[in-house]
Amino acid sequence: MITLDGKFLDAAPKTYRRLDIVVPVFNEEANIPPFAQTVAEALAGCEAPYRILFIDDGSADATWQAIQRLHDEDPKVMGIRLSRNFGKESAIAAGLEHASGDLVLLMDGDLQHPPTLIPEMIEAWRQQPVEIVEAVKADRGVEGRFRRTLARGFYALFNRLAGFDLRGASDMKLLSRKAVDAWLRMPEKNLFFRGMSAWIGFPRASVTFTVPVRLHGASGWRGGQLTRLAISAITAFSSAPLRLIALTGVIFGLFALALGIQTLFNYFSGHAVSGFTTVIILILLIGATLMFGLTIIGEYISRIYEEIKGRPRYLIDQRLGDLGRGQGR
Ligand code: UDP
Ligand code: MG
Repeated sequence: MITLDGKFLDAAPKTYRRLDIVVPVFNEEANIPPFAQTVAEALAGCEAPYRILFIDDGSADATWQAIQRLHDEDPKVMGIRLSRNFGKESAIAAGLEHASGDLVLLMDGDLQHPPTLIPEMIEAWRQQPVEIVEAVKADRGVEGRFRRTLARGFYALFNRLAGFDLRGASDMKLLSRKAVDAWLRMPEKNLFFRGMSAWIGFPRASVTFTVPVRLHGASGWRGGQLTRLAISAITAFSSAPLRLIALTGVIFGLFALALGIQTLFNYFSGHAVSGFTTVIILILLIGATLMFGLTIIGEYISRIYEEIKGRPRYLIDQRLGDLGRGQGR
């Protein structure tokens, strides 16, 4: 029983009516059947029914046909095909908007998020007064040292600037209806699921896992896309880079004051004006700093532009199964 201020009086486990599993997929034709199979095995013992909602993020291979085949055999498997590749974050938004279960689980379709973890996550939600259960990476699996270092650097920077510690966070999360509805209230086009699900708050629990290797295919992320995601995550969650420009201004102001006093002193004490080198260095330095500042401002303006255009986050080409309407048309 839960009292008015949300405390658990006795530890009666919560119940749910249906679990919707949202899976963004991009060129995962070979992974779709084993994924559905593993989920079915993992959830065989669960009391409530589940559905799998694949979001085909404009795959160029036979991913959609694989989803169609599964749907024909088993109506629990449903699908949405986006009109092109909108990126994983937009595919996640499409999935969350169309999921209607009172528990929603988000996970990758390449079996790097082990389905065997699902019952453990549901159990964690049932036993504790939490709205979100996160799967946290105990280690990042077989990943290059370069990428690991970059990821670590990004999380440190994000934590400093945005105040959310996302180290080890993955996109595998179990959300209650309350948490999904809260997430859906964020209308921005510039999406970063991990950060946004931290921003909404709510009590949360976590379970740890080790990232296994991808079953088939290669990671769909290219270096450039990850860099863009990192920049958009930071600009979406922090305006500290803008303040950095002010800080640079202050440092340069002090510099200018010192140099100005020295120049005036030289002038009045009758010394010949020398220092062509100083002038060149100053011009270059000021030019570079101005450009740096403009780049940061430009980055924010481009985000404002993206938001103000008000375009939909994704467009749907086809649907399979009995889905709600969502915001995409
Ligand atoms: N994905 C997607 N759209 C994309 C890229 C990836 O929906 O543009 C899906 C992909 O099919 C997988 C999940 O997002 O289910 C994670 O992608 P990936 O395995 O490439 O990322 P990594 O595991 O390397 O972080
Ligand atoms: Mg993966």
